[in-house]
Amino acid sequence: MTPLDHFQRDWQAFEQAHVWHPYAAMPAATPPFAVRSAQGVRLKLEDGRELIDGMSSWWAAIHGYNHPVLNAAIQSQLEQMSHVMFGGLTHRPAAELAALLVELTPAPLDQVFFTDSGSVAVEVAIKMALQYWHAKGCPEKGRLLTVRGGYHGDTFGAMAVCDPVTGMHHLFAHALPKHLFAPAPGCPFSEAWDDDCIAEFRALLQAHHQQIAAVILEPIVQGAGGMRFYNPEYLQQARILCDEYDVLLIFDEIATGFGRTGELFATDHAGISPDILCVGKALTGGYMSLAATLTTREISAQISQDGTPFMHGPTFMANPLACAVAIASIKLLLDSPWRSRVAAIESRFRLGLERCRGLPGVHDVRSLGAIGVIEFNDPLDMHWIQPLLVEKGVWLRPFGRLLYAMPPFIISDEELEKIITVMVEITHSVSRNHA
Ligand SMILES: *Cc1c(COP(=O)(O)O)cnc(C)c1O
Repeated sequence: MTPLDHFQRDWQAFEQAHVWHPYAAMPAATPPFAVRSAQGVRLKLEDGRELIDGMSSWWAAIHGYNHPVLNAAIQSQLEQMSHVMFGGLTHRPAAELAALLVELTPAPLDQVFFTDSGSVAVEVAIKMALQYWHAKGCPEKGRLLTVRGGYHGDTFGAMAVCDPVTGMHHLFAHALPKHLFAPAPGCPFSEAWDDDCIAEFRALLQAHHQQIAAVILEPIVQGAGGMRFYNPEYLQQARILCDEYDVLLIFDEIATGFGRTGELFATDHAGISPDILCVGKALTGGYMSLAATLTTREISAQISQDGTPFMHGPTFMANPLACAVAIASIKLLLDSPWRSRVAAIESRFRLGLERCRGLPGVHDVRSLGAIGVIEFNDPLDMHWIQPLLVEKGVWLRPFGRLLYAMPPFIISDEELEKIITVMVEITHSVSRNHA
């Protein structure tokens, strides 16, 4: 049977035999569910079942799926052009998106570099920091300082600053540059600040600042590295320490940007600005792959002294379709009551998930913005849990010891209650098996 015959006879069987999925074996340990279409917060499966989406397709689809305004934006750009190279050419959608990003992010960030994925935005941020210190005559500043429990993407530069143990990349440890890791920020978001939290971070900066180009952090929320929410004071202290020791500060807001944590950007909780900021994921409302790295005029000027180019330039840089849908998505967000929607999601998670606190096997329950998390003591059995979630009519994708949801902001009260009910039911089952 030829590959096309196989596809024609049973495309899902063909797919499972030939197509890789994220962080999966080949074939995948648990087969993927085939989606026919998606609308609002509903995913419609090929077998006719409908799932309430609790994932926003990994932080991205904040307005839900198949949104008429976003569809219209992409269609109207399509009539003009879908893509042109960005080397030597430019277009209005890139300029307008840059204007929005410069306006919305903290003040000194006003130089925008577009990339096609979050990981590459992180690579660009790291390269900016290294090129900056090189241009300043400090090439010995070539290392990065970060914290444990982080996740910054899957490419080599980004992998090297992910958590060395839980960061999914320990297989490649021998091939990665050795950076410096402080403990994960231990002070929770809404508890009193304890200066001990940042003591080791401070000690590492003190000892190694002459070799450190930049600190890189996910502000407030450590996402794929463990879904932990930490104190804004940590960021304020990090800002002060970076200034004191002449080290750049990079914030990776690829997961947290565009309202997810209750502020437009997570850095706004701390009221400070990094020197370099990465955004992605929800930038296009989940429609297309697009990311951006912003920095200050001081840094771009240093990098570019005597006309030195910054050495990066993806083929699909600033893709016009992606820029057009990003502009529409940001405007849609700003025109919506996103702040009260996210606050309402937070309080529903808080009330609803709290019922699971203290159950056998449950380590912690927490929520911040439009993110609700149940952390267990032991890893969850995906073979059992993934089909059960689908049977119950919700789309959640637990990982490790975490059952969590980050739904589109437009989710209705009833739909959110359904997600919470299923999370609580699953937790009771896990808890019963545990007892
Ligand atoms: C998802 C993510 C990335 C990587 O983005 P991709 O688009 O998957 O390459 C980087 N940093 C954070 C914080 C993320 O959540």
